[in-house]
Amino acid sequence: MTDNFNIIKAEDVINFVKNGTNLPEKSCLLTFDDGYKDHLIFVLPELLKRNLQGSFFPPVKPVIEREILDVNRIHFILASTNNFTDLVNDLNKLSVEYGVTSSELNYFKSQYAIPSRYDTADVMYVKHVLQHALSEDIRNSISSKLFSIYVNRSELDFAEELYLSFDEIKKLIDSGMYVGSHGYRHLWLDKESYDSQLSEIDSSLKFLKDVGASTKNWIMCYPYGAYNENTLSILAELNCAVGLTTKVGIADVKRHFSLELSRFDTNDYPQ
Ligand SMILES: [Zn+2]
Repeated sequence: MTDNFNIIKAEDVINFVKNGTNLPEKSCLLTFDDGYKDHLIFVLPELLKRNLQGSFFPPVKPVIEREILDVNRIHFILASTNNFTDLVNDLNKLSVEYGVTSSELNYFKSQYAIPSRYDTADVMYVKHVLQHALSEDIRNSISSKLFSIYVNRSELDFAEELYLSFDEIKKLIDSGMYVGSHGYRHLWLDKESYDSQLSEIDSSLKFLKDVGASTKNWIMCYPYGAYNENTLSILAELNCAVGLTTKVGIADVKRHFSLELSRFDTNDYPQ
């Protein structure tokens, strides 16, 4: 990695955007989303050994409330079974119990049961329905039920093991790492109202202040890469310098709008 790229710091990108300072050729910013404890146990020592900085984006809720994010519940539910037909059936059955109509389910199927680069149609259906298609309280209850059926573990214990704590995030900052915003509840921001987006972003900034991260010029990493015009105007208002999307590609900071930078996922690199 260090042979082919110049690993830069978050502050280098922020200074480039805000003050026009130079960035080296083939600059590379290392980003780590979702605040996993693995980032402290495995990633931090490797970065320190190489004298590199990583940028970490923990959503607030799992840190403070020790609740598993929908995205992770869904991940562990999917990882605990091979029988996705049964899972889809269980999901549909529970949805009906919560008052979802069969025409709504048919609509979801037509919209979301479409295979992606990495996932089959069934898996995409489960992800979309539980991530955003159902209303938040319903999908929360359903993913919690499916988690207890399929994963069969206490959510609290699981969250303790999975996510960084407040003090561990402090430790990342004290070790010279950058910590930025990944929202409070890890929502698809483009599906939220202006006010709801504002409260998501505001409360994540309050958390960053509490934990000792800089919020003067800061970096937003959009959960699921999702944002819209409202997000961009809120970020501009709140002095956000850089926005990281999940669009795959080289972020040409000289040409691209700094709130819509693309990234590569580790899946995009050959092993
Ligand atoms: Zn995320």
